[in-house]
Amino acid sequence: SESGNTYYRVVLIGEHGVGKSALAKIFAGVHDNPDGECETLGENTYERTLTVDGESATIILIDMWENKGDDQWIQDHCMQVGDAYLIVYSITDKASFEKASELRIQLRRARQTEDIPIILVGNKSDLVRCREVSVSEGRACAVVFDCKFIETSAAVQHNVKELFEGIVRQVRLRRDSK
Ligand code: GDP
Ligand code: MG
Repeated sequence: SESGNTYYRVVLIGEHGVGKSALAKIFAGVHDNPDGECETLGENTYERTLTVDGESATIILIDMWENKGDDQWIQDHCMQVGDAYLIVYSITDKASFEKASELRIQLRRARQTEDIPIILVGNKSDLVRCREVSVSEGRACAVVFDCKFIETSAAVQHNVKELFEGIVRQVRLRRDSK
């Protein structure tokens, strides 16, 4: 914490193609705000300050997770550096939902002694006719994960703002209870 502002490093993880980068670009304001507010800190890292519940918080969003098997170092790095995680799957892709469970286990192993804030994110909620994972399955999974759950659509920008506000709240809840 620095002069009242707080920095949170938030890491996007999940199967290739689920919409991590699409969510990151909305966060970065690529669509609504081409020349201001958001800073790009090199490739795949974005910084933005939000006001949540009357208090400001700066999120450093890291979108460098890849899932091609040949970048173990990056994945290990991602598992270590986050203050909080967004585990993303696509509601149109059951395999990506199953992958989310694996990632939750991996994260728990990597950060055993820590109570890391996580949101399970079911993205592509606009693709209603291709749905393979129900809302109740997502919610039940989050209960098992002991984390929050939200469905988003990067395509129609539904619940994306709520997602980033939500992760700030999750980090604060844990800090405040210490
Ligand atoms: P990543 O591999 O997880 O970073 O996924 P991308 O952000 O590159 O998205 C993969 C594909 O899914 C792209 O073609 C996106 O345009 C598309 N996509 C991402 N989010 C959504 C969404 O919410 N709805 C729909 N319909 N398509 C999406
Ligand atoms: Mg990507």
